[in-house]
Formats: sequence, C-alpha cells, structure tokens
Amino acid sequence: MALVVQKYGGSSLANSERIRLVAQRIAKTKDSGNQLVVVVSAMGDTTDELIKLASQVAKQPGEREMDVLLSTGELISSTLLAMSLESLGYKAISLSGAQAGIKTDSTHNKARIISVSVKRILEEIEKNNIVIVAGFQGINQQLDTTTLGRGGSDTTAVALSASLKADMCQIFTDVEGVYAADPRIVPGAAKLDEIGYDEMLEMANSGAKVMHPRAVELGEMYNIPILVASSFSNVSGTIIREEIAMEVRNKVRGIAHDANVARITVLGVPNRPGIASAILAPLAEANVSVDTIVQNISVGNTTDFTFTVDRSALAKAKSIVDPLVETLGARECATDSTLAKVSIVGTGMQNSPGYAAMMFRTLSEQGINIQLISTSEIRITCIIAERDVNIAVRALYESFEAEIAKAARP
Ligand code: ADP
Ligand code: ASP
Ligand code: MG
Repeated sequence: MALVVQKYGGSSLANSERIRLVAQRIAKTKDSGNQLVVVVSAMGDTTDELIKLASQVAKQPGEREMDVLLSTGELISSTLLAMSLESLGYKAISLSGAQAGIKTDSTHNKARIISVSVKRILEEIEKNNIVIVAGFQGINQQLDTTTLGRGGSDTTAVALSASLKADMCQIFTDVEGVYAADPRIVPGAAKLDEIGYDEMLEMANSGAKVMHPRAVELGEMYNIPILVASSFSNVSGTIIREEIAMEVRNKVRGIAHDANVARITVLGVPNRPGIASAILAPLAEANVSVDTIVQNISVGNTTDFTFTVDRSALAKAKSIVDPLVETLGARECATDSTLAKVSIVGTGMQNSPGYAAMMFRTLSEQGINIQLISTSEIRITCIIAERDVNIAVRALYESFEAEIAKAARP
C-alpha cells in the first residue's frame, strides 16, 4: 500500500463544484488502495480577499493577526473537502497546520518549518481516514499561528512528504505541469516532462509561481521527486527530480518572469566602507528579502545604492530606508513600484557568454530598456518596466525556442 501526499491549489478548489470534483479524484486514488494525505490551499482568491479586507480596517495590519486571518482560508477549504469526502462515503478528517504537527519559527507571514511531528497524522491514517491538512500554516513556539509565505501550501506538501516518507508527492494545479514559460503568457510554450531541482528552484525564485521555491528546496534536500500536474485533466505532468540526463544540461531550460518588482535607490550616499551593510542589515532584521543589488561606481565622493524588493514589501522597506538617508548623509531615497523581472534559466549557460548577449539583443530589438542586470551561474535576469514584461517573455521565448525545444525533449 503506497502513501501518497497530494496538494490541491486555490483554483482547483475555487468553488463548491470544484471541491466536489477534487473529492471524487481523491476517492479514486483511495480506491486504488493508497493511504492519502491531502494538503489544500484556500479556495480561489480567498487569500487575496482576506488581505484586502485587512487593508480596509488597518493601514499596516499587525503581522501576528494577519497570519491568523490568512490561515482561516485554508481551514475553510480543508473542512469543506473533508465533508465532501464523507458525503461520498469515505472516512476523512481535516487538520489545521498546528494539529498536523507543523512547527515553525516565529517569522510571521514568512515562517520556515522547523519540524513536523507526524504522530497525529499517522494515527488518523491508521484509522483509515483520508487526512486533509490545511496548507500554508504552522504554529510557533508560543503556540501562535504562522503562515509560510504566498504559495506556501506547496511547501507544506513537500515537508509532509519528507516527514511521512511518502511514496509520492503530487502537486495538482490549474496547468498541466511546468512549462518552459508561463503558458498563460506564451500559449505555445513547451511542457517539460522533467526538470532538475536546481533549474526549478531558479525558475521559482525568478517568479514561476507554479512551485513555491522553498518546496523545491525541501524536495532537493530530502530527494523527493515531485509531480506537478493538472487537477482539471488526466494528462501526465512534470516530474521535478535530480537531473539525470547529462545531455540536457547544455541548454536554456526556460523563461521566468515576476511582474511584482519594486526598486529602491538611495541617491548620493557618501562612499565609505560599510554603506551596503548599513542599508541592508536593518532590512534583513525586519525580514525584508532583498533581490538584485547594485552599487554604482562613485562619482566624486558619493555613490548610488540600488536594490529591488517584492512590491508587497515596498512600503515596509521604504519605512526602514527613509530614516537612513539622514543618518548616512545621503541625498534622497527614490522608489519605483512599476517594475518586473524577466530571467532565462538553464544549467547549460554556465561559462557561455553568448546567452547573455542574445538576451540583451532580443530585448533591445523590442525597444525594451534594461534597468538592472543580475546573474547566477545558471540564470540571467533583467529588471524592466512592468508594462513590457509580457512582450519580453514572448520575444525571449521565440529567441531561445530552438534551445528550449532540445531541452524539453529528454
Ligand atoms: P495553485 O493555486 O495551484 O497553487 P498557482 O497559481 O500558484 O496555482 O500556480 C499555477 C500558475 O503558475 C499557472 O496558472 C501559471 O500561470 C503560473 N506559471 C508561471 N510560470 C509557469 C511555468 N513555467 N509553468 C507552469 N505554470 C507557470
Ligand atoms: N493560500 C495561500 C496563497 O494564496 C497559500 C497557497 O495558495 O499556497 O498564497
Ligand atoms: Mg501556488
């Protein structure tokens, strides 16, 4: 008998009809003789609606209250799914993150899982229950509810798979797998049969929200193959696992984008040692993740210091950096919240400068201005205006299509 962990995302559970359809799919897996733990996201856009609601009653809602509020989305879907399964004649029980034994640190809104005590889940499986776990949430040492960051239900599923030593981890979503680019922007994008953890992690960190980056990280750490497939069809999906086919390494694997980027520039900073740390350390302390960082060559005795953050973190980041302008003797702090990033990802790009040149040429042919550039060994990222991002993704896909097609066929 196999132990299967399945995760269903928000659009798979968007309404009561979808919940009933998902219950039927789960029932089939159970009928095939499997033990089942199912992780759920909140229904449809519930999380966005809860965030909006909070913003209507408070300018900067407290992070602790926010976590309790957001966790309720997944409680609703888990209970409804359990009820739906019971009405089909299956034994099912819903568990909150805390009841499922998911312990996290205290970083509200972005908590990391410290440990998972699977005792309760195992007891319920023993009673032949289908266990439905509310994703995206856990509990900290003070017994306060925490959430794992947007898209975090994927991470709950992979963490449970690791702790339960599950035979399979299946992420069901609203597309048929991982594509070489977001299929909603490039409709003809190639679907990948498989992708290695490293490339998937770069794609996810670069904005491919089909997988939560920390879920991929955990998958790699515990060597758990992850299937990404559609809950709307029975088409075979994409397997994320350790790269095995050496031949496919020398290729561009995909294009990722993130349309939610904001930039902060501290202008006219006196150029002396310790500036980067003086600006970035308070942000790190406040748990603001900083992405691309650029410090200009100094002109005279001053320099400009630029970095990007997720747009949702801009207000918090600015409130931290604003007071530093005076402390550091800088001129001003300027922001731009209308940016996006577009990246090409592939292990084969290592030591191959031609890829960067081709990326820049493609963007310039579209008249797209590159504001910042950053690279890793297997990724090249350009920060551009948000209004250009869809054109950029399509143009880059076209430019690299031949490479991508080779990589898509293992
Ligand atoms: P869920 O609610 O199931 O967690 P998400 O909305 O978080 O689903 O992720 C699925 C979405 O990810 C797709 O609808 C698609 O638009 C987007 N996406 C972005 N990049 C990719 C990619 N490379 N492959 C597949 N989907 C992608
Ligand atoms: N409901 C949460 C979100 O919308 C978590 C998730 O969907 O994975 O981000
Ligand atoms: Mg998701």
